[in-house]
Amino acid sequence: MTAEAPLRVETAAGLRAWSEAERCAGRRVGLVPTMGALHAGHVSLVRRARLECERTAVSIFVNPLQFGPSEDFERYPRRLDTDLAVLRAEGVDVAYLPSVDGMYPPGATARVRVAELDDVLEGACRPGHFEGVATIVLKLFEAARPDRAYFGQKDAQQAAVVTRLARDLDTGVEIVVCPTVREPDGLALSSRNVYLAGDERRAALCLVDALRAANERYGDGERDPAALRAAMHAVLAAEPMARVDYAEVVDDATFRPPGRLAVLAVRIGATRLIDNHHLGEPL
Ligand code: AMP
Repeated sequence: MTAEAPLRVETAAGLRAWSEAERCAGRRVGLVPTMGALHAGHVSLVRRARLECERTAVSIFVNPLQFGPSEDFERYPRRLDTDLAVLRAEGVDVAYLPSVDGMYPPGATARVRVAELDDVLEGACRPGHFEGVATIVLKLFEAARPDRAYFGQKDAQQAAVVTRLARDLDTGVEIVVCPTVREPDGLALSSRNVYLAGDERRAALCLVDALRAANERYGDGERDPAALRAAMHAVLAAEPMARVDYAEVVDDATFRPPGRLAVLAVRIGATRLIDNHHLGEPL
């Protein structure tokens, strides 16, 4: 049996009407926000939503607000047709496909900020990024009014920002954070992996190798954050193609030490990759 194509919705009002009808009929609505170029990581979120909610909506929107002026907004991969085929095969009910002009009409200047989390690590490297994320996520919550929303541990600091936003602004949305899906060799799946050319794909393994090194030290009983951090930096320094933005061990709610979440951001050529791991868990 072929699954039905998802209903395509392009406006917030359209999505709200659909969601309202579903919730009135007693069905829970799950939302999976994405920027498209869907891969097995996104699919894992969709499957979890389908397990836990009677209805699932997936948004595909490359959000200009969360890209810096010198970042890859223009060249970010866009593959709507293949994405819609994935959503259909997964039995998704609604594909929410807003336009940039519809989301940010002239004069739309309201922004959402999650203080304290947005000025460290990923927030410090990408000024304005988390404001863009928080703003779009609140807009998606207002449009979809979901019972639950699904995010990936791959973007750990984003998950923390969204969790705090959902709580602090009384959204009533339950945030579910799903495990990172990896390639067989350990590379975390990312829409940006398509940028990796030639030797860069091999070099990109230094991220997971650095996490493994810290995890091994942790497994041997090492608890000194400086030593765990040094274990990551030693691996990264051995990869000539890697330029490290940060590699730290922090708390997974505040993104400051002390903690046991190893987080890192590394540029391989022109491609910036991030990854993380809770030390002490298998990798
Ligand atoms: P993106 O399309 O990159 O904005 O990602 C949409 C959602 O998918 C975010 O919540 C990501 O954290 C999540 N995601 C991206 N890559 C992975 C992965 N490898 N494993 C699990 N979730 C992921």
